[in-house]
Amino acid sequence: MKLLIFDIDGTLTHLDGSTHRAFARAFKESFDRELITEGLKLHGRTDPIIFKECHARAGLNGDWLEAYEKFKPVYIHYLPEAISQNPRARTKPGVPELLAALHDRRDRCALALGTGNGEAGARAKISFFNLDDYFPVGGFGDTHEERYLIMQDAMREAEQYYQTEFDLQSVWIIGDTPFDIEGGQAIGAKTLAVATGGAYSYDDLVAAQPDVVMHDLSDTTAVLRALDLE
Ligand SMILES: [Mg+2]
Repeated sequence: MKLLIFDIDGTLTHLDGSTHRAFARAFKESFDRELITEGLKLHGRTDPIIFKECHARAGLNGDWLEAYEKFKPVYIHYLPEAISQNPRARTKPGVPELLAALHDRRDRCALALGTGNGEAGARAKISFFNLDDYFPVGGFGDTHEERYLIMQDAMREAEQYYQTEFDLQSVWIIGDTPFDIEGGQAIGAKTLAVATGGAYSYDDLVAAQPDVVMHDLSDTTAVLRALDLE
């Protein structure tokens, strides 16, 4: 049995700034301050850590974690609206077809999420595209800063849910940034990099030395073949 752990942003979904808009709106409403993200490194970082930086940049005093707890439900509230109002928000090419094909092979592969998003935000994003049912479990950015710890969470949760012990040689991390690849390599899993995120090119991803690199996930047969699930 294989375990496929998917990143969300840039891998499954193209949200075209919807996340940022919901984040900024919730930040403004929660603290009456503008969100300042210029020059802030967003890719590969978890929601809480991005918030922590923004909290500091806005000159807010007090405990950032406490502020994050206040901010989070507001952000989750605005997220679906920000996505639905964005005509360019969509799933990445081939994603619905690939997930359907993997679902058909559910006796041979299990699915999980592995993302820096908090769980509620992650669920809001994928349920908008009706992909939620494919991912009963995952590792999320709520509890960890480090990608590999999120991947470990995803694996542990999947082992409990699917009642299976996954051999690391059968665990794949699928993501659009070198951070996904490094996280996967750190736990000893296989890695598939897909250059649909926009921030990292095909060559950038090759440099991270994943097991497989693809331009996109549009060729279902090719992806299944790469994962040995044809
Ligand atoms: Mg991503």
